[in-house]
Amino acid sequence: MTDLTYTPLGDITKIVQDLRATFNSGLTKPLAYRKEQLKGLHNLMDENEKLIREASFLDLHKHPQELVVGETGIGKQECVEAIKNLDAWAAPHYVKTGILNKMDAPHIRKEPLGMVLIIGAWNYPLNLLLAPAVGAIAAGNTIVLKPSEVAPHTAALLTRLLPLYLDSRSYRIVNGAADETTALLEHKFDHIFYTGSGSIGKIIMGAAAKQLTPVTLELGGKSPAFVTKDVDVSTAARRLTWGKFFNCGQTCIAPDYIIIERGIEQEFVKQMQAHLKEFYGASAQTSESYGRVVNRNHFHRLKKVLDNSKGTVVIGGETQEDDLYIAPTVVLDVQPGDSLLEAEIFGPLLPIMVVDSVQQGLDHVNAGDQPLALYVFSNNRKTSDFILDHTRSGGAVVNDVLVQFGVSTLPFGGTGPSGIGNYHGQRSFDTFSHERGTIIKSLGMERVNNIRYPPYSEKKIGW
Ligand code: NAD
Repeated sequence: MTDLTYTPLGDITKIVQDLRATFNSGLTKPLAYRKEQLKGLHNLMDENEKLIREASFLDLHKHPQELVVGETGIGKQECVEAIKNLDAWAAPHYVKTGILNKMDAPHIRKEPLGMVLIIGAWNYPLNLLLAPAVGAIAAGNTIVLKPSEVAPHTAALLTRLLPLYLDSRSYRIVNGAADETTALLEHKFDHIFYTGSGSIGKIIMGAAAKQLTPVTLELGGKSPAFVTKDVDVSTAARRLTWGKFFNCGQTCIAPDYIIIERGIEQEFVKQMQAHLKEFYGASAQTSESYGRVVNRNHFHRLKKVLDNSKGTVVIGGETQEDDLYIAPTVVLDVQPGDSLLEAEIFGPLLPIMVVDSVQQGLDHVNAGDQPLALYVFSNNRKTSDFILDHTRSGGAVVNDVLVQFGVSTLPFGGTGPSGIGNYHGQRSFDTFSHERGTIIKSLGMERVNNIRYPPYSEKKIGW
């Protein structure tokens, strides 16, 4: 049980009004203030590791190593990078111009958008809320943070800690589910940053459209992993085993399913089996390194998808509802149309589709929506280039998985149904900034402007 208290609906208007007033007061604009707040956010993650670990374990049975790699390590690094680079990111950017404006130094001012809303998801409940907040704070905005109620222990902890480390006049948490989020969305924000499923993403974007509020949508999708014949099967299987079963498969960029060239599938499964034993021992259920499905709804959803599959379970398949445990499961010979190849799996089930050619795999991928990530395991650069050249996805990695999330100089985001916009590093700052095109003219040299004033004549335009 948890002590997460939802924000009373009647309080939401006042919270939003207060944050708007703070923004209008200019409090969040000075760079020194922003840096101080970023330091506070960093310290929140740094000084409360034990409490964060406990909350994360209660929400997802997450091992501290997965917490550091997938959440706090990245979150803290984002803070450090923003503090270090803020002066450069926020500096006016002077642009090239033609002869007429040469003296006017046209430039782009990086300005805060205003009051923004960040809505987080449950699978990395700390990082998906705080990493975008780094960009929003760095850019000088006030923020409503809406944690996912599906990870209630982390949400309750952040609600307690945030006011101790950040200025409550500028940054507030609103807790709740659909009703509270709906009430929030009735207000006018200057940007909404949402992480979660595409179906709720449509609701968010619909509400934002009514206020002409721009959105960033970090969504999901069925991210495929190609495994081609020329690969080192053991290394490919090891990296894919790690990436698929990290956080019990509940990762937006997890390899959702495998497309493997015929002939190496048995060896691949054998290698996965060996690596699962290496990672989690004889039984993942007793391993401290293996997570749990977040709740009963998701447990039943996953069990149904597995039960309806026509593929062959070659590894795992065991489930235990009262422990929310689903074993790392691999299903071979899954055909298009199978339940495992319909919606994003978002759990520890890995279907393998065996193909006679790379082209057959490409045809399958390209018949569906653009995924958030696409992975290729191949020892041949021509093959991996060919696959990248003939597919679309939010991001892509050759010969590894998940690592794109940790490279802050790369844009992280989807394309088409997997998302709109991107963030991380400077892009987070840019996402929450307005590029204000600015020209400052001298009041002198007015004679030069004669050419533009009436009375017009052909002579003035040089005809
Ligand atoms: P979720 O259930 O936590 O929902 C996300 C947020 O939407 C929550 O804060 C929730 O309160 C809010 N919400 C729920 N119902 C709502 C409603 N009717 N109106 C308004 N808001 C509502 O998370 P989820 O949707 O189960 O997340 C899983 C999905 O998120 C997967 O598709 C996954 O791929 C995607 N995801 C994407 C990223 C990314 O960075 N692109 C990261 C994590 C998860």
